[in-house]
Amino acid sequence: MNKSPAFQFYPKDFLSDINVVSMNMEERGIYITLLSICWIEDGIPIDSPLVSNWLKTGSPLKECFYEKDGKLRNRRLDKERKKQVDWAKKSAEGGKSTQRKRWDGVEKLSRSERLKKARQKGTHTEDEWQKLQQICNNKCVICGVEKGNSHGNALCKDHIIPICLGGSDSIDNIQPICRNCNTGKTNKQIDARPKDWKKRLTNYQPTVNQRSTLQSSSSSSYKDKILTNLIVELIKKNDSKAKVPKENTPQFDKWCDHIRLCRERDKRTETEIERAIRFSQEDEFWKANILSTAKLRAKLPQLLHQASRGSQERYVGSTPQKPKSPEQQKFEGAIKAKRQEIESQYRSELSEARKSKDKNRWDEIHAIINNAVAAYSQELEG
Ligand SMILES: [Zn+2]
Repeated sequence: MNKSPAFQFYPKDFLSDINVVSMNMEERGIYITLLSICWIEDGIPIDSPLVSNWLKTGSPLKECFYEKDGKLRNRRLDKERKKQVDWAKKSAEGGKSTQRKRWDGVEKLSRSERLKKARQKGTHTEDEWQKLQQICNNKCVICGVEKGNSHGNALCKDHIIPICLGGSDSIDNIQPICRNCNTGKTNKQIDARPKDWKKRLTNYQPTVNQRSTLQSSSSSSYKDKILTNLIVELIKKNDSKAKVPKENTPQFDKWCDHIRLCRERDKRTETEIERAIRFSQEDEFWKANILSTAKLRAKLPQLLHQASRGSQERYVGSTPQKPKSPEQQKFEGAIKAKRQEIESQYRSELSEARKSKDKNRWDEIHAIINNAVAAYSQELEG
C-alpha cells in the first residue's frame, strides 16, 4: 500500500467544488480533517464515531465520500493515490535501468563484500605472493618500476580479472603492479606475468639472498622499522657487545612486531614509543633491563610514567645558570667526589639489584646514597 505522507491539494478545485461551495466554514474544516484521516488510514471505517458524528444524512459532507468494503473513500484521493503509485513504479524502473547501464553487469557490492566473494572462489597465501613477486623480479609487471622505487616501497596485488567482474583472489588471478599503474588501471584484463610463472612458482627454490627477504616477509611497517632501528642503535651504543638483531632478518621482524603491538594493541603513539625508547636507554637502571622490544612493550607504562616525571623535575630545575664562583666550584667538586666514594661502596649491591631486575632495591640504594651525600653537603656548608 502507498504510505506516502502527502497528497496534492488544488486550492482552485477545492474552492469551486460544488459540495464545498454549499458548506459552511465549520463543515469545510471537518471536510479537510476527514480527508486527512482518509488519506492516512486509506479510508474511514464506516462504523467510526467520526462518521456518525459528522457525516449526517443530507449534509453536503456526505456527498464527498462513497462507501467501499466497509470504508468511506474519496474519489479525488483515490486518483491522487493511484498517481503516486504509478509514479513510484515508473521511477523505480527508470532508476534500475540507468543503474544497469552505469554498472554494465557489475554487481553493486561493497569492496569487502566483493573481496569475500572473491575469496570464496579462491585464496592465496602470503608465501605465494612473496614468491610471485620474486619471480617477477620484484618489479611492476606493467611499467617495470622496481619495488624499492615504487610508491610506499611496495607492489600492489592486481586482480587480473577484476574482483568486481567475478575474479577470484587466488594467486592465478594476481600480479604485482606499482601504485601508479594500479590507480591508472581500468578494467582491462591483461596478464603481464612471465609466461612460465606458474611452473616457477611450483618449483620455487629461493636463492640464499632471496631467502632472507622472503622469510622476513617484510610486512613490518616502515614506522615499526624506524623505531626498532632506534632501540637497536641505542642498545649498541650502550653496549657494543649487546645481542641485537640485524635488519631484514626474521629476528628483526619479531622485534618490529612488538613495536607494532605497542601501536595497534596498546594504542601508543609513535612519539610515546620513541620517548620510552630514548628514556629506557638513558636511564641507568632501565638501560640494563630493556634489551629488546618485547621488554620495552612490557614496561612501557612505567617507562613513560618515569620519563614524564623526570622531565618535569628537569624542567623545574632548569633556571638560567649564573657563572659559578671558585668556592662554589670547589664545593660542587667535593660533593661529586663524595658521591663517587659512596657509590663505590654500594657498587656490588647496585649491580646485584640490576641483575635481579629489582627496581625497588635499586631505588632504595640510591636513596641511601642521596641521603649520605645530602648529609655531607650540609656538613660542608656548616
Ligand atoms: Zn607500474
